Amino acid sequence: MAIERTLSIIKPDATRRNLTGQINAALEGSGLRIVAQKRVRLNAAQAEAFYVVHKDRPFYRGLVEFMSSGPVVVQVLEGENAVARNREVMGATDPKKAASGTIRARFAEDIEANSVHGSDSAENAAAEIAFFFSAFEIPG
Ligand code: GDP
Repeated sequence: MAIERTLSIIKPDATRRNLTGQINAALEGSGLRIVAQKRVRLNAAQAEAFYVVHKDRPFYRGLVEFMSSGPVVVQVLEGENAVARNREVMGATDPKKAASGTIRARFAEDIEANSVHGSDSAENAAAEIAFFFSAFEIPG
């Protein structure tokens, strides 16, 4: 199986409730390795740019406001099939539909404040990692 990297974000609802450690334990417990990590605060322009793919969706303004409402922890996860593995551990976007035991089922407040982001393809993972990290910040 392929060793991949993916971008993960611990969102403002989770940092506000001091859940970084519990979410990291879930990620590490699933076999993913956190190979880079930093806590940052996005401004509105940065949140807009990160979620530009959703710019025509009705929830875009709310999402940008939410993502810039507090600090986030951005991380690079590495492991076998890391993109799909992380999506599995995260659970469905809507926590009401997320499988039990997943991060969103355990911690998300609602469909917007859903605690974590994870890249949805290897191609998007590469672009999202480059959005937040330079090569020397990822020791490997
Ligand atoms: P993800 O890949 O599971 O994060 O889901 P998407 O890429 O479809 O959406 C990006 C983010 O936008 C989600 O994680 C939510 O924070 C938010 N979002 C998605 N769908 C909705 C929705 O229907 N309503 C609201 N308020 N937010 C949403």
